[in-house]
Amino acid sequence: MTRPELRIRTDRFVSNIHAVRDRIAPSELMVVLKDDAYGHGLDWAVEAARDAGVLWYGTYDVAGGVATRRVLGDDGRIFAWVTSTDAEIDEALARGIDLGVGSQEYLARIVARARERGATARIHLKIDTGLHRNGLLPEEWPQATDEVRRAEADGHVLLVGIWSHLAEASDPEDDEAQTAFLEAVRIVEASGATPEALHLTASAASWWRPELRGTVSRIGAFCYGIRSADGPDIPGVAPVAELVATVVGIEEDAAEISIGSFDGIPSTLVGAEVGTDAGTRALQSIRATTSLVAGWPGMRVGDPVWLFGAGEHGESSATTLAERIDTVGEEILTRLTPRVRRVIVD
Ligand SMILES: *Cc1c(COP(=O)(O)O)cnc(C)c1O
Repeated sequence: MTRPELRIRTDRFVSNIHAVRDRIAPSELMVVLKDDAYGHGLDWAVEAARDAGVLWYGTYDVAGGVATRRVLGDDGRIFAWVTSTDAEIDEALARGIDLGVGSQEYLARIVARARERGATARIHLKIDTGLHRNGLLPEEWPQATDEVRRAEADGHVLLVGIWSHLAEASDPEDDEAQTAFLEAVRIVEASGATPEALHLTASAASWWRPELRGTVSRIGAFCYGIRSADGPDIPGVAPVAELVATVVGIEEDAAEISIGSFDGIPSTLVGAEVGTDAGTRALQSIRATTSLVAGWPGMRVGDPVWLFGAGEHGESSATTLAERIDTVGEEILTRLTPRVRRVIVD
């Protein structure tokens, strides 16, 4: 039993959810589940969030929404934001999945599918606030609003929300994005609609920029305890996942551990600090299926070594590792391959 383990701490996920909710209230938490719940496992995340009373779930695509619905049952709101095929729209209609709509072409297809099936599509209209990543342009917005209002009158759609995504590159840019967002909301409300879910912010802006929060906040990273790259630790929020390998051999004054680049560990992490029962040690080399760690007195085959986690054994967080190689903590987690065994710890 020497396969590396990603140990997933449900208690930490739940306490992170509570910390985030306390911070953002009265804005509602939408737990973001993309990339298999940031590498933690979608089914586990949905079940734990549901038990913690979370109402909103954000998935990238309809397939993720369907998987979420399977675990969630009939309650709860699922929001799938990427532009989907007609077959996926049909699935979303059948399973009560809300769709993010960022183009007139997609809006027209959704209305057509809903009309054909005699269903009502729940949609969240997306305004492009500067990121230029799938969103209606301000000049398209009034016409799109009219189309949505007509389809609502015909019973084919329900305008549940208005949303956008922030670049989080600088406060002034995010302020400008909010101005564009609020103008889009104003136009929709002037048409007589009152969508309940207004959502603009993800983890960092939801936490640090209360004035940007809408009625819903889409949060992934902080729920999993992943702080922003070059950002501070978040009070009350701790890493949910710990990556643990086992000592499988002793080579002079180094321990050989059961994890390597085939497990998804970037070889550029050589030099990073990992955790052992004797405290912090340096990762000396990364091979295909094993790696070497600077040894410690009394090291033995079978000893655990923590590659990342909450720091209880001197190990770094995933974000601290990520910063060494100019990426984000999410990337360290989502790169792990299926060779790494996911183990849920309550
Ligand atoms: C990933 C993502 C989020 C969540 O971002 P975090 O920084 O992980 O909280 C929210 N909205 C969209 C559209 C996303 O792609």
